[in-house]
Amino acid sequence: MARRHTGNMNGERYLGNTSKKEVHDLDKEDTKSNGCQIDEIIRAGHDKPFNSLTTAHVQGYDNCDKCLSGSTR
Ligand SMILES: [Zn+2]
Repeated sequence: MARRHTGNMNGERYLGNTSKKEVHDLDKEDTKSNGCQIDEIIRAGHDKPFNSLTTAHVQGYDNCDKCLSGSTR
């Protein structure tokens, strides 16, 4: 697990999946096959960088329940 410098990411801690409107914490990424699937999100072009979780929430993103707790869905 690591921050990414590919796709739209440039080392930011949080990655939003624009397809599912979910935000992931790359410092706590779940790398199991059924986990966050960050690389798949980037490959699909659905990655959106966030430096702050609050910013992601303001934009309507929900927490991933694998790497962040408190999903509201
Ligand atoms: Zn996640």
